[in-house]
Amino acid sequence: MAFTVTVLGSATPYPRPDAPCSGYLVRHEDTAIWLDAGPGTLAALQEHVSPADLDAIWISHLHADHVADLLPTVYALLFADLRLRRPIPLYGPPGTAARISAFLSNTGRAPIEEVFAVRELHDGHRTRVGELRLETVAVSHGFPAFGVRITDGARTFAYSGDTGPCSALSALAEGTDLFLCEADSIEPSAEHLTPAEAGHAAAGAARLVLTHVGHTITARDAVRLAAEHFPGPVAYAAPRIVFRV
Ligand SMILES: [Zn+2]
Repeated sequence: MAFTVTVLGSATPYPRPDAPCSGYLVRHEDTAIWLDAGPGTLAALQEHVSPADLDAIWISHLHADHVADLLPTVYALLFADLRLRRPIPLYGPPGTAARISAFLSNTGRAPIEEVFAVRELHDGHRTRVGELRLETVAVSHGFPAFGVRITDGARTFAYSGDTGPCSALSALAEGTDLFLCEADSIEPSAEHLTPAEAGHAAAGAARLVLTHVGHTITARDAVRLAAEHFPGPVAYAAPRIVFRV
């Protein structure tokens, strides 16, 4: 079974040329899930799949660098050539629907329920998309924020979202074949991880991929520093890379 994670973008906190913000496409057979919709990722997504053919969207938290491209996605699905068979299940933090519709409201309420079937996430939230099972885990980012484990029963992938050090992280990574983890800064903080902390958190994973590497460190140095604390392979989530889970 092909089970892949394609990096649409990993830049933070703003997109650069050819480098969108956070967004990933998880594919398993015919199933396609868009994880995080950072600015630039709607365009990158369309290199692989039409937004109308997505089986689900999953959003880690409501910071703009993870969610902003949901806005033009509503335009794409309401006002253009794309035709939806049914609203796309959109899993997001509490308040997701209100945030999107508040921005899109001009002369009245934006009918986002025509394109998204919004389901709010909580710690321990479980759902199934195609043959994939998703389990959401609360992480520590100063306001509601989540990571996710996705498995087909044989292979497991996990994504940290944005988070500071927290006990949920090692459980998130435990037993995974691939752990996609943020490593935002060289400076320790409560809301993000250093590469060393990402390396520690990944202890139970087979492979570590660093993403969301901020301006205080280069991707190459982040990988080197994480590898000092993690015995397995460490890679960087450069745009367009496809990882097999
Ligand atoms: Zn964030």
